[in-house]
Amino acid sequence: MEHGDKAGGSSSSNSSSSSMNSIKSRGRSGSSSSRGRVEGGKRPKLAVWKFASCDGCQLSLLDLEDELLELADAVEVAYFLEASRAVVKGPYDISLVEGSITTSDDVERIRRVRKVSRYLISIGACATAGGIQALRNFGDVKEFTNIVYARPEYISTLERSTPISEHVKVDLELHGCPINRYQLLEVISSILNGKRPNINSYSVCMECKRAGNVCIMVAGGIPCMGPVTRAGCNALCPSYRRGCYSCFGPSESVNIRSLSNRFRELGMDDGSIVRVFRMFNAYSQQFREVAREEEVGTQ
Ligand code: SF4
Ligand code: SF4
Ligand code: SF4
Repeated sequence: MEHGDKAGGSSSSNSSSSSMNSIKSRGRSGSSSSRGRVEGGKRPKLAVWKFASCDGCQLSLLDLEDELLELADAVEVAYFLEASRAVVKGPYDISLVEGSITTSDDVERIRRVRKVSRYLISIGACATAGGIQALRNFGDVKEFTNIVYARPEYISTLERSTPISEHVKVDLELHGCPINRYQLLEVISSILNGKRPNINSYSVCMECKRAGNVCIMVAGGIPCMGPVTRAGCNALCPSYRRGCYSCFGPSESVNIRSLSNRFRELGMDDGSIVRVFRMFNAYSQQFREVAREEEVGTQ
């Protein structure tokens, strides 16, 4: 089961159908003046770029099995090495960027990507928050490479793994590890139709309540990051009585300090609280601040 696939009327499923309706209606109009078409009636060019990542977010695009053909009809897939070696030269109308910046080459490359992109969308926890590889940001990267690699002198890497937005202007961020494919469809469809994407900004708790779940934190004393985590997965883990570990990262305007206090009341020690905020979105500003405060508190 994947993010957004859970059965039972979900916001994500609704997003999916509305996205596809949009693509369909735009396709039916078929005229060069429709908003989805660029000048000259050509299909908008889509590019997908990879930086330091596992490819899982790119695969979310290919996982859109039922909608992929229609999407491919609405845009020209001009650069997507995961799917095809054929490359159409830029500039590109929509660039999806997966992965974090971890080398000096990456820094140069993302600037070039920005220059040839009309809309640049960063997708996934790696691209929006540095990813799991940003755990290096809290240690000594030289020490890590010395331990991990037989010939560490061959390794060329920056000290920190950073999100795309630290280097170039990003038009929109899509969160998750991996992202919800229907949210991605909603974003692409919205750009094609010149409207604001309908991506929820509330927390997983809202989805959890909507699913009719009994709260595992209130009723079972199981630590859960749902209250501070951005919605998008239809409360997948709490629906199976597992605490959320925040693969979608911090939601907007949430009281993270209050949740860490609650975790302490539930019996978590200081080190465990630091680690719960240091996962896929460890370098997001909200999580790194609270983890740092907790860490300082333990010293
Ligand atoms: S966010 Fe997660 S799924 Fe996406 S590329 Fe990074 S590690 Fe892979
Ligand atoms: S189980 Fe977790 S996500 Fe669900 S309501 Fe409780 S705290 Fe929120
Ligand atoms: S960890 Fe949290 S955000 Fe990620 S799938 Fe589970 S419930 Fe959803």
